[in-house]
Amino acid sequence: SAVAADRSVRAPLPVLGRDVTVPLVTGGEVAYAALDYAASAPALQRVWDDVAAYAPYYGSVHRGAGHLSQLSTELFEDARRTVAAFLDCRAADQVVFTRSTTDSLNLLAAALPEGCEVFVFETEHHAALLPWRGARVTCLDAPAGPRQAVDTLERALADRRPHGPALVCVTGASNVTGELWPVRELAAAAHAHGARIVLDAAQLAPHRPVSVRDLDVDWVAFSGHKLYAPFGSGVLAGRADWLREAGPYLAGGGASRAVTRRADGGVDVEWQDGVARHEAGSPNVIGAHAVASACKALTEAGLDALAAREEHLIRTVREGLADVPGVRFLSLFGDDAPRVGVLSFVVEGWDSSHLAAALSAEYGIGVRDGLFCAHPLVRALLGDDPRGRGGCGASGTPGERPRGAVRVSFGAGTPDEHVERFVRAVGE
Ligand code: PMP
Repeated sequence: SAVAADRSVRAPLPVLGRDVTVPLVTGGEVAYAALDYAASAPALQRVWDDVAAYAPYYGSVHRGAGHLSQLSTELFEDARRTVAAFLDCRAADQVVFTRSTTDSLNLLAAALPEGCEVFVFETEHHAALLPWRGARVTCLDAPAGPRQAVDTLERALADRRPHGPALVCVTGASNVTGELWPVRELAAAAHAHGARIVLDAAQLAPHRPVSVRDLDVDWVAFSGHKLYAPFGSGVLAGRADWLREAGPYLAGGGASRAVTRRADGGVDVEWQDGVARHEAGSPNVIGAHAVASACKALTEAGLDALAAREEHLIRTVREGLADVPGVRFLSLFGDDAPRVGVLSFVVEGWDSSHLAAALSAEYGIGVRDGLFCAHPLVRALLGDDPRGRGGCGASGTPGERPRGAVRVSFGAGTPDEHVERFVRAVGE
């Protein structure tokens, strides 16, 4: 029935830490309310169980002849296939396991072809703003809406001379405002102008289905620890050509096919062609397994059902804080723009770090405050001049304490009570 369906949508998925209690300065203890999913989401219990079930059996991947080595290799390669299916990759796409989104984007940055230009909005997370050292980077102004984002990109790409290789890097959902970006339209604009595009899906993949094929992006990057898996694993998935033509991201065993000593004392290396080229060293097979397990769990729970539940939690926050004097949400595209469960706000007369500390000490609620590794965006949204302190990627004037916002973020494991307590706490 409709009611039963609604109830199933409203039930949070079991995550680690749901029984943790914390002391309050006011006395007593309370269940910890983790409302900082945008930084790191708690691992799904199911992912943890999958990891624990496999842990006694792991052995070195790719190299060992023993039974457990073969099992590990199978698990690792199976994880690759699961991630490719989760992202709806094209047949020729590669899935490279990395440490994180930051690592994935740095890997791509290291594989840019000679003379490649990079286009990136000033609103991006630093992981997407900063890796492109050595390339000519054009930092695009923050748009006031999705249409303007596409127009801004089109104009910048149309203006470029000469017409060499170019890469656009864009987020799918902002880690500050939660707002969804028009990825499909930006990809179409990039391709119409001969550029490629990488999607930073760190905040999107945990909340919405991501189809590489449908969005027509060239690469996608995400982090396991935001996707309900533990720390230490990430993914770069997409086209093979730039990665195949670049030198290995890390030099070492696994990335090399043949190594020979030259007569003059030097060493000659033939590098691998496939994903192994960029996965030197012993890989994080447990991390890859955990990511794959999370992909399966989210697919089974249904990302659409999780998104519907999240909508309900977003409404609880917005409606609950609507009448609290001095609360202002940060948004680029407008308060009603579609978003994932990530909301940043300031309260007039309150220092954001004091507010976050009070939420923790008096209510057992974990949020984050500050500039969220997106300094130009947060400064612009707070009314500071994002270019005044060095623009793209600036880290602020040394010694000066920057103003910041409070960010509340949630997801598949968040019970209503956590969000309701948060709303009550801010009101009080
Ligand atoms: N991009 C976005 C949009 C993010 O929110 C984050 C993490 N806050 C990153 C990239 C970097 O992810 P990681 O720290 O896992 O490398």
